[in-house]
Amino acid sequence: MRIGVDLGGTKIEIIALGDDGATALRRRVETPVADYAGTVRTIAELVQSVQSQISTSATVGIATPGALSPQSGLLRNSNSVVLNGKPLDQDITSALGQPVRLENDANCLAISEAADGAGAGSRVVFGAILGTGVGGGMVVDGKILTGLNRIGGEWGHNPLPWATDSEHPGHKCYCGKCGCIETFLSGAGLTREHFSRSQKEFPAERIAAAEQAGEPHAVRALATYKNRLARSLAAVVNILDPDVIVLGGGISNIDMLYSGLPELIGEHVFSDGIRTRVVRAAHGDSSGVRGAAWLWPIKT
Ligand SMILES: [Zn+2]
Repeated sequence: MRIGVDLGGTKIEIIALGDDGATALRRRVETPVADYAGTVRTIAELVQSVQSQISTSATVGIATPGALSPQSGLLRNSNSVVLNGKPLDQDITSALGQPVRLENDANCLAISEAADGAGAGSRVVFGAILGTGVGGGMVVDGKILTGLNRIGGEWGHNPLPWATDSEHPGHKCYCGKCGCIETFLSGAGLTREHFSRSQKEFPAERIAAAEQAGEPHAVRALATYKNRLARSLAAVVNILDPDVIVLGGGISNIDMLYSGLPELIGEHVFSDGIRTRVVRAAHGDSSGVRGAAWLWPIKT
C-alpha cells in the first residue's frame, strides 16, 4: 500500500493506492491557511487515520508547490508562502514517526503519468503543468530526474524561445526576470494575450469556449498560445528528447492545443522530423496526489 498527500493552497488531499495503482481510499480536507504547525499536524493526523483505516502500514509521499533546497533542506519557491523556509519533510517525518518523501507538483505529475497514466510504458517522460504556474518534471526509467540542484525540469522560468520583437523583453515575472515561459503559458498569460486583442479579461475556460464558437480574438489568442507552447516544448525536445510529453494543469483541458502540436514543435527542433507524442494527463487533477503515492518504489 502507498499513501500520497497533495498539499495545496486551499485543500489537502490524501489517497491510498494498492501496488496495482487501484484507489483504496481518498479524502480531502481544507488546508489550515497561513498556519504551518497546523498544516503539519493536519497531514500527520490524516495519514495516521488512513493507515488505521486500511489496517496496514504504507509508504508516504507528499506533493507540494516548491522544492526543498539542497543547501539548506528548507522549502523554497512555494506559492503557499507559509511553507517557505521550513523543513517540511523533516517536520512531517517527526510528527508521523516514519520517513516521508516530498516532491513538487510537476515532478509528481510526471511520475504519476509515467507509472500508470498517459506516459505508461515510455522510458523518458516530460510532464508539463500549464495552470496558475508553469512547471515541468522529468521521469527516466521510472525515476524522477530531480537533478543536483533539485530544479531538473523547471522549464517555466527559462525565457520564451525564438521570441519575436513584440515578445521581447516580455513581461516581468515574479521570479525577478522578464519574459519567462510562465508569463506566456500560465492562465494569466493566456488571459493577457486575449485581453491585448479584445480588451476583455476572460479566464482560460471562457477563452476556450469563445474559440470553439469561432470568436476571432479568441481564435487568434489561442493560436498564438499554441505557437508559444510549441516553441517552449521544442527547447525541451532539443535537450531531453522525451518519448512522450504529458500536459497537466487547467489549460491542458483545452482540446485545440493538441491538434498539430507535434508538427509545430517539429518546426523548431534540430531534426528532420519528430515522433514525440504530446498527450493530456490521464489522471487530471489527481496527478499530484497519485504522483506523491508513487514517490516510493514498489518493494520487490
Ligand atoms: Zn520567472
